[in-house]
Formats: sequence, C-alpha cells, structure tokens
Amino acid sequence: MSKITKSAARERIEFLRNEINGHNYNYYVLNAPVISDFEFDLMLQELAALEKKFPEFASPDSPTVKVGSDIAKAPDGEAGERRPFEFATRTHRYPMLSLGNTYSREELSEFSDRISRTIQEECSYSCELKFDGTAICLTYRKGSLAYAVTRGDGVKGDDVTANVLTIPSIPRTLHGDYPEEFEIRGEIYMPFEAFNRLNAEREEIDERPFANPRNAASGSLKLQDSSEVASRGLACVLYHMLGENLPFTTHSEAIAAAKSWGLPVSEHSKVVGSIEEVNSYIDYWDQARRSLPFPIDGIVIKVNRLDWQRKLGFTAKSPRWATAYKFKPDRALTQLLSIDYQVGRTGAITPVANLDPVPLSGTVVKRASLHNKDQMDLLDIRIGDYVYVEKGGEIIPKITEVELSKRPAHAVVPDFPRYCPDCGAELVRDEGQAKHYCPNSNACPVQIKSGFVHFISRKAMDILAGEATIDQLYDKGYIRHLSDLYSLTKEQLLTLDGWKDRSAENLLASLEKSRSVPFNRVFYALGIRHVGEASAKMLAARFGSIDAIMAADRDTLVQIDEVGDVMADSIIRWFADPVNREQIEKLRQAGLKFEQEKTKKVSDTLSGGIFVVSGVFSVPRDEIKQLIESHGGKTTSSVSGHTSYLVAGEAPGAEKIKKAEKLGTRIISEEELRALVEPKE
Ligand SMILES: [Zn+2]
Repeated sequence: MSKITKSAARERIEFLRNEINGHNYNYYVLNAPVISDFEFDLMLQELAALEKKFPEFASPDSPTVKVGSDIAKAPDGEAGERRPFEFATRTHRYPMLSLGNTYSREELSEFSDRISRTIQEECSYSCELKFDGTAICLTYRKGSLAYAVTRGDGVKGDDVTANVLTIPSIPRTLHGDYPEEFEIRGEIYMPFEAFNRLNAEREEIDERPFANPRNAASGSLKLQDSSEVASRGLACVLYHMLGENLPFTTHSEAIAAAKSWGLPVSEHSKVVGSIEEVNSYIDYWDQARRSLPFPIDGIVIKVNRLDWQRKLGFTAKSPRWATAYKFKPDRALTQLLSIDYQVGRTGAITPVANLDPVPLSGTVVKRASLHNKDQMDLLDIRIGDYVYVEKGGEIIPKITEVELSKRPAHAVVPDFPRYCPDCGAELVRDEGQAKHYCPNSNACPVQIKSGFVHFISRKAMDILAGEATIDQLYDKGYIRHLSDLYSLTKEQLLTLDGWKDRSAENLLASLEKSRSVPFNRVFYALGIRHVGEASAKMLAARFGSIDAIMAADRDTLVQIDEVGDVMADSIIRWFADPVNREQIEKLRQAGLKFEQEKTKKVSDTLSGGIFVVSGVFSVPRDEIKQLIESHGGKTTSSVSGHTSYLVAGEAPGAEKIKKAEKLGTRIISEEELRALVEPKE
C-alpha cells in the first residue's frame, strides 16, 4: 500500500466500504457471516489506513465511523428468503458504542501508554472475558425489567423485551438496594451444549445450521415467537452499568452490586494493577478458553476507576477507556489434494478444496471453500500446495494463504472449468459478479432439484416436503418442471421409499393448499436469480400481476428505485426463456395465483383517515394495516401534520410518539382501533 495513486485509493475505499457494509448486513441482520471476524477486521483496518492517508475521501457514513446495525430491517438480495421479522425500535438513552479491538500486544501497550499520559497515574484495569454473543441493553426501573434493546445501529435498537424475558438467568425483578433506574449492558450468548443441540435439530429438519454460537444467539433473540426463544437455551452475562448519579467509584464495584441484586455477571473478571498483569491474564485465557463451555473471542480491558473513564471519554465510535484484545482464529497447515466445483441453486459455481485431513479447533477438516475464481487467483493456489486453513464465522473452513516455501515442483495450476460439471453447459460470468454460473437452469439437474427445494420452502409455497422427497421424485422421473408437482398422483407417491397412504395424502393436501398462496410468494417461489422475498413482494405490489411483470421492459424495471441493473437483467432473461413462459401457463392452469389480491373492502368507516401504525400488536403489524385499509383508511410510515391517528401497540417507536404528541395527533390503541371499525353489539 506504500505507493497507491489517488484514483486507485478512491476505488479501493469505495470497494472496501461496500464490502464491509455487505458483511455487516450478513453478520448483524442475517446472522450468516461469510467471512471470519479476523478477515473482517483486516478489511476495516485497511480502510481506516487508506482514509487516514487520503483524508479527502473521508465520509461520516464510512463503516470506520458508523457501527454496524443489527436492526432487523432487510434490504433485499439473494438472501431475501431470510428476511427477518421487524421489531419496534427504541432509542438508546446513552449511545451504544462498540469497542476498539486489536490482535496485537504492541497495540495493547500503546493503548495503556495513551491512558497513562492522560491520567498521569498508575492505572488499574478490569480484565474480562469477551463473550461471543450479541449485545443487549437492559433497563431496570423500580427493580423491574422495563425493556431490553439490541445494540442496533448504536443509537437505536430492536426492542426484544418479550424474548429476553424467556432467558432464565435474567431476572424480571431485583432484590436488595438497587437504584431507582439504571441501564445494564451485556451479552446474550449460546453455550456450546445448546448450540450443538440446536444445530442437530435443524439438520434433522433440513434447515441450514447456524455457522457459530454467536449467530445462533442473535438469530434466536430475533425470533418472532417468544416460546421458541425460550427453547433455545440462551444465557446472559452483564458487564457495564449506566445511570444518573450511581453510587460507585469503580466499574468492578458496580458489577459486584449488580450481582448482589440478582443479575448475571461473569465469574472470571479480574482487576489488575498493570499492563503486564493484563498480558498474563490474556496468556492464561488464550489456553484456558478451549475448555470453557461457552464461546469467547478475546479479552476486554477496561479502566476500572469511573472518574478516569469519564476523563478519558470517547471517540466517535468507541470509548477511550476500554479495548478488546481478540484471539487469532486457529489455523492449520495441510496439503491441497484436489478441487471440486459445486453447482448451487441459482447455478453459481463454488470451488471446494479437498484437503489432506487435518485437526483444527476440535474437528477434522477435510474440505475448505475457495469461494470463486478471483479468490483462487488471489491466493495463486496450485494443486499439491501446502495451505493454511482457518475456521472463522463459517461452518466450512477456508483457505487463507498458500505456504509458498513448501510448494512442490509438480504443483499444478488448477483449471477453472469452462463448462458446468453437472450438465456441460458453458459457464457465464456477469459483469461485476464474482461467481461463474451455469446458465442452463432448466436442464441442469442440481439446479432443477434445488429449484424445487426453493419452490416448496416455507417462505415460498410452503409445501410439506423435504429435500429427500424432491430427490426421490426427481430420480424417479416424476418431476422435471415445477408444474409437474401439481400433477403428481397418489399412486406415484406410494412408490417412494417408506411412503404410506397418510404421507401421500398429506403431500397432496399440502399441494392443494398451496394453490391459495398469494401472488407475491408464488412469484418469489419461481426462483428468479436476484429476486428475493422482499423484491418479489415489491414487484408484485407494483405490477399487480405476472402478466404485467412479463410485459415490462428493462427501462420500466430499472426506473423502480429498488431494482438495479443486475435484477432487471435477471428478470428479463428469465422471462425470455420460452420454457419459463410455458411453466407460468401450466402453473396458472394448475390454479396458482398470478395476480395480486386487492385488500377486500369491508366498509368505508375510516375513509379519509390517514394512519400510522407502530409497535407490537396481538397480530402481525401488516394485519393491522390491512384492517385499516379494508375499512377505507390509508396507512403511511411516518407521523406528519396529515396523520389522523397513530395506532400504538406495545413498545411503539419513541420518535413517533414524540412527534404525534407535539402535533396533537390522536394516539389510539389496537382495541380502540378495533372499536372504531367493528360494529357495536
Ligand atoms: Zn449446469
């Protein structure tokens, strides 16, 4: 990076920001990271260094300035099927910052030097395990849990109080001499035992297992159904208390008090008097962490005295009085034996390395992902090379480096295939896309099968069958195109392994039921590349029918804000294929819905009224909106002078309430809304 031109720097900064934002989204919202924390931190470091060198490209929106957000509001993308449930958001009383972190002892010394310069005295530190979970902020009022909010974007987070109340170690009420009101922050995490059990269950029902306990914890915390959260075995540890006029002089004192009131705190924290002792604490836990029953990813070091904390203050993003030392991920050196090229649902080709089996972090690694051709070129990998494998956020480990000093003379440059390993079609690669893919979606067996699996999935047609059933139906030649599902007969189903009358009837009934699935989900179920669940819903609402979408040209599509070039091209290409058009007709004949149903008008009671809906209700928020619309009312998303009513459920948005109060907008409850529209007895 020593010599980089200005334009190259600008390009690289752009690239890194986009990448990091994407990874933040995968990590915080989808709970499905694709790179390790270590790699993520390296990208962030590179970006910070470039921004420092080229301050003209600094931006307040850069991920080096803004913390990642876990707020469950999904833009759309290929992972659209995992669009999370939306919670009411709540603004934090004190911003929830993230900690600075480092992998280097040298930087840790610099951290302590900076502190010494400011406070001019010997400093004592609280050393704590860095639990690898998801951050939470609890507010207790008069000794009762008032609410629990995720970190979100640091300013506001998701209100997950109902879910947090299901975690056994978090008390509803406190005992002892607690302050009238205070906040306490900590981490919700999943012990290994609960994590392994959960993943075993998920694999049994063909659901994708979680990559690591942290993603499992944050995914569980964001579930819609609290009783399901309760079954996930989450745990909590609290480590930072905040409030007005709290009677403590040190951080460790505050935490000890929290413990005496019944709050869960870590048993492994230790107050030490020097940076040397901090280092011994780190050395000890770098080994001992392997036998802990829960995941940690480092050590947190905090200045213990609260007056010193105040004196040291904050940067825009993190406190100056605390930092995290992170452990490097384990890695192992082994030999690359061969590379397989796997075909995914949308035809994307993923190179997978077959390795000489090697033990790593408690398991034996035999395969590792190589992601795409660029990644292979970047690594300059050859078959026969000795490579480093690392386990980061993923289940499949990855190759991070080639040990060039051990390259055998006969190492062979791998030949990235030009043709699909499954069907032989010539692979294509779109401008700007990292992956090659097989365009032959209608004749490539792996793609066809996974297209069926997508079609029947819960968020699509919700047909009660699994991957194994699809495999059997395909192998017997009963299904080739999606519409074939609707002409399956009971006799055919009874030829499947282990199938009885009952299972056959269940599948047929489920297929029957899928005929009433609304158009937006049918559209999503078609599995058009780059059209995720949210895009499908948006397009269905805009166009109203499949015929209208089919008739739209590229210009019409890209004029829509949410539709980029890539999605537009993909839609055009899909409908240009006569096989797909024929499928639409056959599925239409089978009785599937290809038109958006208008909300049925029940009455005009609310006609002329403009409503804003906020908070959690007895039914999903969309149903409240539909209720309003079905009685002639309009719904909008923000409170303004035109708003007639703010319908507030539990934990409504604080900003909305404030605005409504200021404007004198009427605030009504769900019951009051229902009373407005339902005929009185
Ligand atoms: Zn193929």
